[in-house]
Formats: sequence, structure tokens, C-alpha cells
Amino acid sequence: MQRLPEPLKALVEQLSRLPGLGPKSALRLAMTLLKWPASETRRLGRAVHDLRDNLHLCGRCGALTDVDPCGICTDPARSGETLCLVSEWDSMLTLEEGGFYKGHYLILGGLLAPLDNLHADSLDLDRLTRRMAEGTVREVVMALGTTVEAENTATYIRNMIARQYPQVRVTRLAQGIPLGSEVKFMDRETLRQSMQYRQDL
Ligand SMILES: [Zn+2]
Repeated sequence: MQRLPEPLKALVEQLSRLPGLGPKSALRLAMTLLKWPASETRRLGRAVHDLRDNLHLCGRCGALTDVDPCGICTDPARSGETLCLVSEWDSMLTLEEGGFYKGHYLILGGLLAPLDNLHADSLDLDRLTRRMAEGTVREVVMALGTTVEAENTATYIRNMIARQYPQVRVTRLAQGIPLGSEVKFMDRETLRQSMQYRQDL
């Protein structure tokens, strides 16, 4: 790698920092880029550059966006009365792909580890506190998952909201048997939750 011309060496060094890429595969990628027309490589370079310069966190929901506030927060067809909490941005993307949710989001940017329970400094809750203080949210939907950290975070936030805004409804995504599955193939915890959150028929 030492003998590579400086511009190539610099690119290989940067590429090999990407997950799954060692120096050899980084060099192979760099050689592919060299075969591209100059306009194409410039376009790629610009896209990487713009990623940092033109992408921000939405001040209201914390989503990655090129306009602040983001398109979801400013969409007049969506209701700000329902606020869906997700831990990371990609969970929001998955929910959005479904196209069935028409409320707002708030991205927590992480979850509370069990030992953080007493002091939630590891989680930035300022955005949530500010949003709740606006007084428009009537329901908070927890879409945080079912890990110990998710349960812990959901409980912490539910208590926080119940203390300050007892009139706000706090819900969570239903948990249970996935569509198309059979009871005999379910694990015990999924079945327990399905029984606990059973619905009227
Ligand atoms: Zn937003």
C-alpha cells in the first residue's frame, strides 16, 4: 500500500474504514472508481460531501433531513396530536414505508440501558419535553421494540408523561403473533404478550 500514488493511497485509506472493507477490497473499489468517467466520480464525491454539509437533524423530530423542520413535521395532512416515539431514524423509515401512520414522530436517538434508569442522562429528552410543553400532543405511541432497554425506556417515559401530563394517552405497539404464523411455533414470551394484550373478537 506504501507504493501507491498519494491520491490513490488517500482514497484507499478512507474507503478501508468502511465496515466490511479491508485494504484489498478498498483498493479494488478505488480502481473501479478510476475507470469511471470523471463526471461520475465527481458526482459521487459531491454526494459524499453533501451528506455532511446539507443534511441536518430536524429540530422538531430529530429525523435526518435537508430542510428543517422536515417534510413530515410540516405536512398539513398529518396530525400533531399523535406522537410516535422511535429509538432510531431507520425505525421511522420502516413505519413510513407502511404508509398507515398519519401522526408525527420523535426520534429519541437511543434507549436507556437498565442501569441508567435512575438518571436518564444518556438519553436526550429535551426534544420530547419541549414537544409535550406545546400542549398539542394527546397520544404518545411507543414504538421502541421489545428489548429490555426498550421496555425500560418506555416505562421511564410513560411515568414522566403520566406525572406531568396525566391527560395524555400513552400507548405502545401491540405485541403478539406475527401474521401468517401458527401458535405452535411461537416462543413463550411472544405468546405471553399475545395473551396479555388479547383483543375482543
Ligand atoms: Zn421533523
